[in-house]
Amino acid sequence: MTTTNRISNLSNQFNASIAGFKKVFSVASMTLAVAMPIVLSSPVKALQVQMTPQSPRLGDTISVIVSLDNPANGGNVTVSSGQETYTAYEIAPNKYRAFIPTTPLEKPGGRTVKVSGGGETKNLTLSIGTRKFPVQRINLPPGKAGVKATELELRRAREFREVRTPEKFWKGTFKRPNQGRMSTQYGVRRYYNGVFANDYYHRGLDYAGASGSAVVAPAAGRVVLVGTVAQGFKVHGNVIGVDHGQGVASIFMHLRQISVKEGDFVQPGQKIGTVGSTGASTGPHLHWGLYVNGKSVDPMPWLHGTAEK
Ligand SMILES: [Zn+2]
Repeated sequence: MTTTNRISNLSNQFNASIAGFKKVFSVASMTLAVAMPIVLSSPVKALQVQMTPQSPRLGDTISVIVSLDNPANGGNVTVSSGQETYTAYEIAPNKYRAFIPTTPLEKPGGRTVKVSGGGETKNLTLSIGTRKFPVQRINLPPGKAGVKATELELRRAREFREVRTPEKFWKGTFKRPNQGRMSTQYGVRRYYNGVFANDYYHRGLDYAGASGSAVVAPAAGRVVLVGTVAQGFKVHGNVIGVDHGQGVASIFMHLRQISVKEGDFVQPGQKIGTVGSTGASTGPHLHWGLYVNGKSVDPMPWLHGTAEK
C-alpha cells in the first residue's frame, strides 16, 4: 500500500466515524511517522535554477544561473525559451549561466523557460513586465527616406551580432563609454510621417559628447569589427565592435577617429576612438549599442552592475 493510499483510507475513516475521531487521528499520526523515511529516500534534486532580475521588464537581460548538485548525470546544460536556445557557459564548478535578452519588440507577459541538465528538466515561468518607451515623431520631406545601409555594412553588422566566444572577458560593472550627457535613452520608438515603425527601437544609448571627445571601452574585450565610411559604412559611420565574450558585445557608431584595429584586446576605460558625426547622424554624438546573444538590450542594468548577479 502506498503512503497516499494509507492517508486517503484513514481520511475516509475519519469522515465516516466522528465518534472514533481520537482513535483514528492517533493511528494516522503513527502511519505518517513510519512513512516519512520513504519520502526522504527519493533522489535528491539535481538541478537548481535562479533567474534574475526578480521582476524583469522589456529591455532587461535575464540571467539564468543553473547549479548542478549531481553532475555525474551529465553536465550538459541547456536553456531555451520559445524558438530560441541560449548557450549556458560554465562560470564556476557545476555552475552555468545563460543570458536571455529581451527587447521592446516583444510582448510583455509570461513565457516558459526550459532548463535541462544533470539528467533533469525543469519548465519555469518567466514573467516580463511592460515598460513605456518614449516616442519620437520624425517627419521626412517626400523623396527623402534617409541614408540606406550598404550590403557590406549589413553583412558586417550581422556577423558582429553572431559572434559567440566561450571565454568571459568582462568583469563586473560596465563603465560609461563617453563623459557626455545621455541624450537618447534605450528603446525609444518612432513614427515616420505619422506611421508607427514596427521594427524600430533605439538600439542603444546616445551620449552627446563633443566632437573629438574620448570613447572608451566600457568593459574588456576583443575588437571584432572596425569599419569606416570610406569602406561603405554609410549608416554606421566609422564603427567599432567589441566582443566581451559569452554572447555579450558592444558597438560604437558615428565615430570621428578609430584608434584600434580588429583583433586588438582592449581593457575597460581604454580609449578606442573619438566622438564624431559620421554616417547617418545629425550632429556629434556617440551611439553605444549593447548586444546579448544577438539582441540589443538596455545597457543601463550593465552600467549599474545589476545585469550580472
Ligand atoms: Zn543612437
